[in-house]
Amino acid sequence: MSTVRTRFAPSPTGYMHIGGMRTALFNWLWARHNGGQFILRIDDTDQERNISAALGPILQAFKWLGLDWDEGPEVGGEHGPYFQSERNDLYRSAVDQLLAEGKAYRCYETPEQIQADREAAEKEKRNFLNLRRSLELTESEKEQYEAEGRPSVVRLLVPRDQKIQIDDAVRGHVEFDAGLMPDPVILRGNGTPLYNLATVIDDAQMQITHVIRAEEHLSNTPVQVLIYQALGYELPQFAHIPFVAAPGGKEKLSKRKLDKYRKSPQFKKMFDKAEAVFPRIGLENADGLDPVMVEYYEKIGYLPEAILNALARLGWSLDDKTEIMSLDTIVENFTLDRIVKAAAGLDPDKLLSFQAHWMNQLSLDEKVAHCGPYLEKAGLVKNAADPETSQRISQVIVGMEDRLKIASDILDFDEFFVADDELEYDPKAFKKRIRKATDAVPLLEKVKNELAQTSDFSAAGLDKLLHDFVEAEGIGMGQIIHALRVAVSGKGTGIGMFDCLAILGKESCVRRIDRAIALSQSE
Ligand code: GLU
Repeated sequence: MSTVRTRFAPSPTGYMHIGGMRTALFNWLWARHNGGQFILRIDDTDQERNISAALGPILQAFKWLGLDWDEGPEVGGEHGPYFQSERNDLYRSAVDQLLAEGKAYRCYETPEQIQADREAAEKEKRNFLNLRRSLELTESEKEQYEAEGRPSVVRLLVPRDQKIQIDDAVRGHVEFDAGLMPDPVILRGNGTPLYNLATVIDDAQMQITHVIRAEEHLSNTPVQVLIYQALGYELPQFAHIPFVAAPGGKEKLSKRKLDKYRKSPQFKKMFDKAEAVFPRIGLENADGLDPVMVEYYEKIGYLPEAILNALARLGWSLDDKTEIMSLDTIVENFTLDRIVKAAAGLDPDKLLSFQAHWMNQLSLDEKVAHCGPYLEKAGLVKNAADPETSQRISQVIVGMEDRLKIASDILDFDEFFVADDELEYDPKAFKKRIRKATDAVPLLEKVKNELAQTSDFSAAGLDKLLHDFVEAEGIGMGQIIHALRVAVSGKGTGIGMFDCLAILGKESCVRRIDRAIALSQSE
């Protein structure tokens, strides 16, 4: 058997769609599973925009996830060029061959004429087929049309007596009746190729053995099969995979529906998170990044392992029960026969649970390395690698326990990184726990004095100190602990109280309690 060669052929749109990434991943997995090659080809025939700007985020998504390509942009290869815009000569010569062999024809019919034919067919309730009037033209009539500058396109001459059979690796056996197919345009009037033509020529010349792509292309496949046959190329194995659906829905996940997603209960958390995080790390226009884009996950602090795991599970399963899988495990087990036919919905909660798992697998140092840049970008620390800073980040991460899921979650614990006189107090918590709570201020004053005097500021030492304190005062722990938390952290919730005090250290705790007391008396 020949080497497995798969490809992903994105149009440069300026962003990488998470559903498209799943298609790319399946192609990559199948190539890697078989020790074959994965090719990246750029479908830029219809592009007027700046290619490198539109392609950048797509290549970055592959690099971030660690999905390498054996041939394509930046790496080259033996079957290039890998940009369709640079392959026009190849398309033109294939079309010339088809014209010379009578398998395609130049069609001079006007759009009006074709529209009239369509309407006539509709009226008589028959299927529309091209009347192929241009085939009747004599050479001199054609020359005259050309001399007049009459517009024309090239159409494939569909062999109407054929049944087109496709054995799709996912959809199974599919048949199409060529007798019902109009002659598709393969070359536009301006000499540019249509998708179906360019794709077949590229796939054949790049020796692609498996075309794994979104199911919406199944309807293009019969035309492509006819082009393969007309050009004498061997057919690849097709695998049309189900689309990635929006959370909880059956509709294809689409950037056009963002307004709807923003309000959907499943997606809302992701948008809220974006709004909370992106402006803080200097991405003012958080709207520019949304959960349909791979870049959203990278920028907000997901791990490639989590995204790859989640994407692999969108429409493929190892054994109907295993959820957590490393990329190596997926590569080892990936086969096309375990791709499902039904659309798979992106599930933000599930994605987060994969992320939580993979975050948990990291060593403390690795976690620090992931979180540090967020603190730097938010201006909370100058240099996360500085030993003292990195020590504090480690302590906070340890204190966060499983509250650290996404790297940017560290920003929710900014109380450990702001200066004492810049700590902000959550007004609600402050009112409830300090201003309105019985004896909160005198108790804070007393406990502050104890804290100032102790020589053991470890979490265990503080645990003992506070227990002794409540006993001596004859109060419950609840009567001091909430006020103390708000006073030192500004917030009503956070990491374990004794850890919190220990990380902040004596000086900060004393200063912050003083500030809270002053604040409660100032208004
Ligand atoms: N550029 C096409 C797309 O993004 C490629 C389709 C194909 O894989 O044939 O839909």
